Amino acid sequence: MSNNNCDLAIIGSGLTGLSAAIAAYCKNPDLKIKLFGIPFDSNTAKKGEIENIPGINKIVGVDFIQQLVEQVQSLNLEFTQEKISSEHMDGIPKETIMEGIKQDFPVLDITNDMVKFISSSEKGFNIITEQQSIETKSIIIATGLPELKHTIKGEDKFVHKGVSHCAVCDGALFRGKKVVIIGIGNFVARGALFLRKYCRKITLLCPNDNLECDKRFLRKLETSSNIKIKYNIDLSSIEIYGNQTVEGLRYQEESEIKELSLNGVFIELKDKPDLSIVSDLNIEKTEEGFIKTQVNNSTNIKGVFAAGTIRGELDYAPVLMGDGYKTGLFVIDYLKDI
Ligand SMILES: Cc1cc2nc3c(=O)[nH]c(=O)nc-3n(C[C@H](O)[C@H](O)[C@H](O)COP(=O)(O)OP(=O)(O)OC[C@H]3O[C@@H](n4cnc5c(N)ncnc54)[C@H](O)[C@@H]3O)c2cc1C
Repeated sequence: MSNNNCDLAIIGSGLTGLSAAIAAYCKNPDLKIKLFGIPFDSNTAKKGEIENIPGINKIVGVDFIQQLVEQVQSLNLEFTQEKISSEHMDGIPKETIMEGIKQDFPVLDITNDMVKFISSSEKGFNIITEQQSIETKSIIIATGLPELKHTIKGEDKFVHKGVSHCAVCDGALFRGKKVVIIGIGNFVARGALFLRKYCRKITLLCPNDNLECDKRFLRKLETSSNIKIKYNIDLSSIEIYGNQTVEGLRYQEESEIKELSLNGVFIELKDKPDLSIVSDLNIEKTEEGFIKTQVNNSTNIKGVFAAGTIRGELDYAPVLMGDGYKTGLFVIDYLKDI
């Protein structure tokens, strides 16, 4: 198999994709697997501190991704032709030659390369990346969900001037300030709880009537004296204003326009799955825009599988790791039969 071919291409190197790679490689180390995407650009590496992985007490996201990357790299055993003599090892006849395969490239390869487009080809699929073109027999799509940007009025004008898309990354810059955080779900709840360590006052604007986060987070939010939650806020009514930097924000609550004077706005919204790289494959989607999968995480396109939030899976690290892992195993089963 040439250097530009592989058996399995995993698109996405967050914890879903890395887990799929570990499963697939452990199940069949003879196959050539390439991982696309940037592990240290994944959500977990950039934002997380995870405390709900069974068996791991609490771990900073970037350290967890580092451990997964090291695990993948350590699985990448290379065999070389090597002479072993009795001077080195007792019990093995002199001049025994250990036969092995000389690998010019890793069998399980983290490419740190982004995929631009995927199309069908004679042998399976052709993947065009920022650095190369590759043929593969099978694919796992594990690209996660993109951040939703450019949705709030004034957002683009004030990026890095008071607007941030990551409370955990930039919160410390707003020490003693008044801020707003906009979004829904566990990561917004976690973001607000993180901000409470630094900021004087935090207003959480939630677009639904429910924050859709874990109760343990909600309890802490509701009992934090410097956090206020506002529900049912129409995102299109929010407007950030200021001169050089953010000075305030307007929003509509019921029929009233409210105004907050503040210094920072954190926008933590998740977008719909971005399937532009596979637009040529006609993959079936759910009504909500997620990739539609069967019980074994296969899609309607033979050889294409999906794992994690891109197929609507719950956005919890242990769930996504399990989903990635089982998809890795299912693909190996599929490859046995073709
Ligand atoms: C602030 C925050 C805190 C969280 N805390 C917790 C927690 O405490 N507990 C918990 O269980 N969960 C938590 N989560 C949720 C969960 O852990 C993450 O959402 C998880 O990181 C998703 O992993 P993923 O691999 O599916 O996707 P991502 O982490 O989004 O990774 C996607 C990968 O795809 C790659 N990619 C994207 N497009 C392409 C392309 N075109 N070509 C190649 N590669 C591509 C990216 O480079 C990246 O490597 C948290 C999330 C956030 C944001």
